[in-house]
Amino acid sequence: MSGLPDVKETSSTCAACPKACRFSCPVSEATQNESLSAWGKMSAVHHVVTGQRPLDADTAAAIHACTGCGRCTSFCSHENPVANTLFGARQHAVSAGLQPRGAASTLATFQQAQNPFGHELGSLVASWRAQRPVRYPLFPGCSSLVKRPALMEQTLTVADAFGAPMGVAKTASKCCGYPLFAAGSFEAFASHARSVAEAFVETPEVAVLDAGCAYTFRKLYPQFGVKFPTRMRTVVEVLHENLPHAPARPPLPERVGYHDACHLGRGLGLYDEPRALLARAVTAIVEAPSMRREAGCSGGGGLVPRTMPETSVEIARRQAAEISEDSNVTVVTGCPTSTRMFERAGRRAIDLVSLLERWVTQT
Ligand code: SF4
Ligand code: SF4
Repeated sequence: MSGLPDVKETSSTCAACPKACRFSCPVSEATQNESLSAWGKMSAVHHVVTGQRPLDADTAAAIHACTGCGRCTSFCSHENPVANTLFGARQHAVSAGLQPRGAASTLATFQQAQNPFGHELGSLVASWRAQRPVRYPLFPGCSSLVKRPALMEQTLTVADAFGAPMGVAKTASKCCGYPLFAAGSFEAFASHARSVAEAFVETPEVAVLDAGCAYTFRKLYPQFGVKFPTRMRTVVEVLHENLPHAPARPPLPERVGYHDACHLGRGLGLYDEPRALLARAVTAIVEAPSMRREAGCSGGGGLVPRTMPETSVEIARRQAAEISEDSNVTVVTGCPTSTRMFERAGRRAIDLVSLLERWVTQT
């Protein structure tokens, strides 16, 4: 599996480090627990893989206390791949039967249904089948398919208004497999990725709604040697490319806060495109002091909402406050998972595509 970190090597780099990124980890900050900093978790892994201490339940819990946000790597002069190292180390917890309950149940559901929701996705996709030829097959991601049908409807409306009609792809019944990766079940992830890539053989291009799925296809699959025949772009990229064809509407008279979702920003490097879309849709945008590559996390990744539910909500609460303490400022983000996390934290939040829909349909 080329491109995956060597757990022994990367964990020893952190163990020898004077905690240079100590302020960066949202889990450590939300729990006020330094042993859950990137340094603390990687040092624990180092001790286990070098045989200095056995893997116990506490260490297993610690290596699951990572959202995979990649923020520590942004502040690391070695660009040490902490998240993928910790996810790799989760395999040891699986083998030792020490996987936290939330992660184990997600894995069990996935093994049974091939997605983390336990739903049969084929019939859901069939109900969205396009009635006419479309320019872009849409891959919404199973989270939107199961939980946010309104977001899918809004995406289709905005795509039409931008002259880039989309229709839900047949292949949308496949989960990208990210939960398997986050659970440390790397062999199952590789096998799942191969089957997904095969399903896409006759699809030359797809617009992906969920930034986490797009990151998985574009960045994780290649690390597992899985080649993709399909051009995978995010809905944000497709809409940005078609922004010159967007209807001439005045911006909505609103002040919103923008959150760089981890997989969209640090994961795929998409910082300017969502901002350009947002700048057309509203009159005022506020941002957190730490943004783009250094942006905070909403707490939704790495199975943390399953393994540490209260911490994941606290991470979202802190990040929303970082963007604006004013609860009247709606948080806008380009990732459905982040939107849901901010809502769970009691903050008014909206997906970028939903806001664009309000902009293009205003009367
Ligand atoms: S990620 Fe980099 S800065 Fe942070 S503890 Fe590891 S080596 Fe040090
Ligand atoms: S990837 Fe994010 S959550 Fe994980 S250790 Fe680094 S900063 Fe913390």
